[in-house]
Amino acid sequence: MTAQTRIDSAYVVAGGAGFLGSHLCERLLAEGHSVLCLDNFATGTPENLEHLTDDWPLVVRRWDISEPLALFSARGVFNLACPASPCHYQADPIGTTMTSVRGAYNLLETVRSMRVPLLQASTSEVYGDPTMHPQKESYWGHVNPTGMRSCYDEGKRCAESLCFDYQRLYGVNVKVARVFNTYGPRMQVNDGRVVSNFIVQALRGNPLTIYGDGLQTRSFCYVDDLIDGFLRLMFHLEPLGAPVNLGNPQEFTILELAELVLDLTGSRARTVFRPLPSDDPTQRCPDIGRAQSELGWRPRVALREGLERTIAYFDRLLSGEPRARKSVRKKPAAALAISTASLTSVEDSALRVNNVQG
Ligand code: UDP
Repeated sequence: MTAQTRIDSAYVVAGGAGFLGSHLCERLLAEGHSVLCLDNFATGTPENLEHLTDDWPLVVRRWDISEPLALFSARGVFNLACPASPCHYQADPIGTTMTSVRGAYNLLETVRSMRVPLLQASTSEVYGDPTMHPQKESYWGHVNPTGMRSCYDEGKRCAESLCFDYQRLYGVNVKVARVFNTYGPRMQVNDGRVVSNFIVQALRGNPLTIYGDGLQTRSFCYVDDLIDGFLRLMFHLEPLGAPVNLGNPQEFTILELAELVLDLTGSRARTVFRPLPSDDPTQRCPDIGRAQSELGWRPRVALREGLERTIAYFDRLLSGEPRARKSVRKKPAAALAISTASLTSVEDSALRVNNVQG
């Protein structure tokens, strides 16, 4: 592998080996794009990308975005690099803040010099425990700045702030997506979030752990819908100049979710109640008016249907069967134009999952 790899017209996906990132890489490849995935594999795994065969113009590099990087050519950058499950982001809270803030800064500097857009994956957590319902983008939020969740909430809020300062000062085309609870295949068994916890518990016949009284609400978006929103936002020509909510506006209590999972899995597992974690939001539901009017986007997959697909995934995983391979349109690897001059220090640890020469 040479130090200088020039690969044309790639999208960069930071956090591309994670749950959302791997689905995004797959969709970009399926639509004919080349992809450079950067991931430190803190919560993402190479297995999430292994089904993308040797034929694909995909390069994967181990890289922590809290370290400066220099890319010289790309079509656009997606920043999805940050642990997103409360138990994971709270395990290393300072690292979480640094990933959000330094990571956004490093990528903004990079897109500024390349003059290409940055899509920043922000979060519904910027609204904290909201007093406005459903949450519109104009709502400033109700966040505890010193609590257990603040490393993630405030880190993501600061990243948004950086994005809009880069837009105002340097004209960077920033696209800020506020992602609401999303679920689907390739969540990890130990992810810790409610959908995967309940499915894994139900399939194993273990009690479903309801935190608090289970009357808190969330709105669950199937991963394919979310990725569709990301792509519409990235390919949208006019800068929106403001964040946009991406999530499913159908709201459920956690108890309703537990009942549905038990019903769909046919499990006879019982439910147990556990203490509510601190600062756990009481209600969460996106107002998606802006995404509908500006991007023509709305989610298509109902919770029942999305859960069925996710349950099928975990069922295969837990029974030790090979993971499902999505059929992706075959396309020969094109010449990629990614300059990796700054990535030479990690060349040895780089993981190549395709036949692109680098
Ligand atoms: N939750 C639960 N049982 C679990 C995991 C989570 O009752 O095993 C609750 C959690 O307290 C929260 C909601 O489900 O009220 C969603 O939690 P999750 O960690 O999925 O994401 P959050 O929206 O809190 O970031």
